[in-house]
Amino acid sequence: MFLETLNFLLLLVMQFLIFACSDSRVCPSHILDFQPGEAFVVRNIANMVPPYDLIKHSGAGAAIEYALLHLKVENIVVIGHSCCGGIKGLMSIPDDGTTASDFIEQWVKIGLPAKSKVKTDCSDLEYSDLCTQCEKEAVNVSLGNLLTYPFVREALVNKKLSLKGAHYDFVKGTFDLWNLDFGISPSLLS
Ligand SMILES: [Zn+2]
Repeated sequence: MFLETLNFLLLLVMQFLIFACSDSRVCPSHILDFQPGEAFVVRNIANMVPPYDLIKHSGAGAAIEYALLHLKVENIVVIGHSCCGGIKGLMSIPDDGTTASDFIEQWVKIGLPAKSKVKTDCSDLEYSDLCTQCEKEAVNVSLGNLLTYPFVREALVNKKLSLKGAHYDFVKGTFDLWNLDFGISPSLLS
């Protein structure tokens, strides 16, 4: 009975769905001091949110569906970070798209629109700065991809949800937070 009551209380205060990188240096509960019951957390390489797809990436889809329809979270935050190996991997994929791994590059390719944008818009930057820009832009691509989920769109239209992007720089000790830019195009990867 105690556990059932506790679970009920925890569900009542669940406010956040967090997407963060699997990198051990960027644990969201540690960075943002979440207490048990406050944040439903999905961690994967390079904190990617894949576009809605009933065949691929069902783990991410299930987490988003559960967080919105059952936990009724009011905020989704996608948190990128400095020195992200996943983003470096994305930036290193050759232009012809050939990959050398079974899963890793295929996964980080979710962020290809971000890579294209920063290579076009910031071509004068050093490689490390280009990667930093891509870390932030990939968050925007993920925010755009969230809009491909019908239950996300519905919650936004009903003003029951806010989408936020963030970038945590553990070298400088900064945490930037921004709202979804509706001008972002969702990833069109098939
Ligand atoms: Zn990372």
